Amino acid sequence: MHPARARLIHNRPQQCGPVLYWMHRELRARDNWGLLHARHLAAERGQPLAVVFCLARHYPLAALAHFAFLTHGLDETARSLEALGIPFVLLRGEPGQAVAEYAALAKAGLLVTDADPTRPKRAWLAELLSRLQCPAIEVDGRNVVPARRASDKAEYMARTIRPKIQRLLPEFLAPFPTLAAQTLPWHAPRPSADWPALLAEFGPPPEAFPPGETAAASTLAAFLGAGQQGRLARYADDRNTPLDPASSLLSPHLHFGHISAQRIALEVLSSNAPAPAREAFLEQLIVRRELAENFCLHTPNYDSVDAFPAWARATLAKHQADRRPFLATEAQLDSSATPDPLWNAAQRQLLATGHMHGWLRMYWAKQILLWSPDAETALARVLRLNDSLSLDGRDVNGYAGAAWSIGGVHDRPWPERPVFGTVRSMTFSGAARKFDVQAFIDRWTRPRLP
Ligand SMILES: Cc1cc2nc3c(=O)[nH]c(=O)nc-3n(C[C@H](O)[C@H](O)[C@H](O)COP(=O)(O)OP(=O)(O)OC[C@H]3O[C@@H](n4cnc5c(N)ncnc54)[C@H](O)[C@@H]3O)c2cc1C
Repeated sequence: MHPARARLIHNRPQQCGPVLYWMHRELRARDNWGLLHARHLAAERGQPLAVVFCLARHYPLAALAHFAFLTHGLDETARSLEALGIPFVLLRGEPGQAVAEYAALAKAGLLVTDADPTRPKRAWLAELLSRLQCPAIEVDGRNVVPARRASDKAEYMARTIRPKIQRLLPEFLAPFPTLAAQTLPWHAPRPSADWPALLAEFGPPPEAFPPGETAAASTLAAFLGAGQQGRLARYADDRNTPLDPASSLLSPHLHFGHISAQRIALEVLSSNAPAPAREAFLEQLIVRRELAENFCLHTPNYDSVDAFPAWARATLAKHQADRRPFLATEAQLDSSATPDPLWNAAQRQLLATGHMHGWLRMYWAKQILLWSPDAETALARVLRLNDSLSLDGRDVNGYAGAAWSIGGVHDRPWPERPVFGTVRSMTFSGAARKFDVQAFIDRWTRPRLP
């Protein structure tokens, strides 16, 4: 592994003892730099490795469907690891505290964990480190170019981070080694895990998106397709067409770490899709996705209007008193009952599948700004709906997407309009010029009772 992926985050005297990998973002056995690094360090020390995961009692805005997606995926990962002789320790409780207690029980000599800049994860980590007696290392297994290496400040827009990432890609876009099986026994006690009961607790996983590493690999294979039959071949032309989108549908798997973005990038590069399609996709998968990580890493209030650039805050304040075409209530938004049939159809797609097409997410969020009394309310509504209903919600991409839509983050000023000011607006008529809006509305409109 490239050494720049890892960072010592807890400097304690070196200790003899087993190695723990605390998995909380990259929930996979395959192509996982944090796990590979922990395995390497354990072998180097002649110590056994165990993977520990703690299921939190509560996670902000997470719904049953998210827990079902998470636990079913985790079940597969736990089996893959056990098959390699790597114990999978499942804990429940407050993660920072529970993992620290298990590390003490196992007399761990070293802890390795995933990097994650979101607030709940930072809080878990702070709690863990306040109790942990052994050294801890954080590994960036999410980004192709590790976020801290790509840039040490909040980037202004894609144009400013793109050259930094592109310059470092040859160094980091390397093939993955295989995770070696383990023969050393794990002596520390392990709490028993009742997987059937756990899986039953959250109900079946969502039908539209089967969870887990195998399902993620199948989604990627279908996207790549054989020859030039996959959606990737159409990506440059059709990715923004919500009716027959060319997009990958990989975001729930990427969010839960069932598949590595680096693996996807390697497969895309070795596919025979046309070069413009590969480039357009890698722009989203690497540049935009890593810009979102950069935003949350370097912007403490990433989910607040304080994160908006000064020009956007000023223009939104100037237009705050503008007359809105309609003032939506939370209930109208929740039940897809606004006067805009396209917005309602997009919301129904989200409610029915746990996913909304990427172009529509921008339109959907911007209409919420138009129908809210102020930008603060609009941002809170977008995040509440996105994070509670999207399978891929509660993700840095969502915080960046919401801040882009409502507050011009990573964007520039546009010609001035009511309510939006110089924040880019999107309109129904603009959507109608792009795709067959009526066909999309018909597809996602509930059949009326006679
Ligand atoms: C208001 C709003 C909310 C959003 N909420 C989320 C969210 O909660 N979770 C989430 O993963 N993405 C979110 N996005 C970003 C983007 O819309 C989704 O990543 C994309 O639609 C997922 O579908 P896909 O996997 O088929 O995308 P593809 O087009 O196939 O792209 C492949 C991958 O690239 C990344 N990507 C694509 N577009 C973006 C982008 N604009 N910014 C950052 N990364 C991107 C994602 O990881 C995506 O899975 C949001 C965007 C907006 C405007």
